[in-house]
Amino acid sequence: MTNEMKVLVIGGGGREDAMVWALAKSPRVSEVVCAPGNGGIAQRARCVSVDQSSLSDLLRVVLAEQPDLTVIGPELPLSLGIVDELQKRGLRVFGPTQAAAMLETSKAFAKDFMQRHKIPTAGYAVCKSLDDVKRELKHLPPAVVVKADGLAAGKGVILCASHEEAIHAAQSIFSGDLLGAAGAQLVLEELMEGPEISFFALCDGTTAIPLACAQDHKRIGEGDTGPNTGGMGAYSTDELMDAPTRAWVMEHVALPAVRGMRAEGTPFTGILFIGLMMTADGPRVLEFNTRFGDPETQTLMMRLESDIVDLFDAAIDGRVSELKLRWKPGAAACVVAASGGYPGKFAKGIAIHGLDGGLDAKYDGVEVFHAGTALQDGAIVTAGGRVLGVTAAEVDLRSALKKIYAALQHIEFEGMVYRRDIGHRAL
Ligand code: AMP
Repeated sequence: MTNEMKVLVIGGGGREDAMVWALAKSPRVSEVVCAPGNGGIAQRARCVSVDQSSLSDLLRVVLAEQPDLTVIGPELPLSLGIVDELQKRGLRVFGPTQAAAMLETSKAFAKDFMQRHKIPTAGYAVCKSLDDVKRELKHLPPAVVVKADGLAAGKGVILCASHEEAIHAAQSIFSGDLLGAAGAQLVLEELMEGPEISFFALCDGTTAIPLACAQDHKRIGEGDTGPNTGGMGAYSTDELMDAPTRAWVMEHVALPAVRGMRAEGTPFTGILFIGLMMTADGPRVLEFNTRFGDPETQTLMMRLESDIVDLFDAAIDGRVSELKLRWKPGAAACVVAASGGYPGKFAKGIAIHGLDGGLDAKYDGVEVFHAGTALQDGAIVTAGGRVLGVTAAEVDLRSALKKIYAALQHIEFEGMVYRRDIGHRAL
């Protein structure tokens, strides 16, 4: 644990840009490298290319860079077992092992695990065939959710109003056309109702502490309409969840999860992202993710006043219970500017105006995190569906949003779309 640390971040989206931004602020960090990064991250850190779907290529980059600490952003490298490979070689890495990441990579594993450890979640059945589905539906109410077992980048969850719809959904998942191997088995689940909250716990294999909560906006359209996306915006305020409820979630979800994983021989280290639905019967787990969320992370990084490296170190060294985290009081929000046509087909390589060369040169207190951008002949162009995450932390949500939407007036690229109602539920 030196004060001249070189940190390597794996990933190349808005979440990673926000983590790189936070790492660059740390007095303990002397160099940040990001693989593969993106057009905006390249202005904060040195970027090196990597194929994130190849374990050997990921390993090649880490071994070549020899960082003091590697931080894994997305789920794909976790699912491939990059953390296990680095640990085997005695390298410091933040994130769960392949076995621990199963809380995210297999919904069937996660549901069975929750049942084993009495963690509150919707009633369910794991099905391997259409016959299983038809049999299990008899024990479920008409409204159900059909979920592909494996990683599906948000595309594997289908809400169904009737058993007939559920059978259709199951057929499309099992056919493999929709999701390939991720659909080899599926989870049928009772449909729940209520607002959703993203709860983040920092885990060190033995215990966990809560981070700030956030809420994201998954739908493309204002008023939460239209198809699902990776997330069109998010906000984080202290009021999202009161202290007794946070304590309840720690006691009934986060701590049983960490203790359960340890008891089963697969201790969980990293971020446990608990997707909660606040039902009339209390909080219920919708899903676990095993890394930071995107775009929730952008808001969390701007609220975090503690040194991010201290969080990573404490998790790796089994000391999270000693951490006293400091958060900026008030609120943070992130509004995503997306390519026209997203989440369907969209064009790439479109010039982005209004960034003014240096990030945030003009926008006091606003950070423009880059998600899908690339550097082309010295200019920043679009390179993905979600392009930018315009983010601010202020004394309250209204002030944060005001700054963000003012900045968005100056940023433009052909076809750019963003939601004007981020945070509306809290206002
Ligand atoms: P998941 O990937 O499991 O979190 O599901 C994605 C989204 O589908 C969630 O954020 C919810 O909006 C919705 N969803 C998942 N499971 C349920 C459920 N049991 N009841 C109602 N909505 C659900």
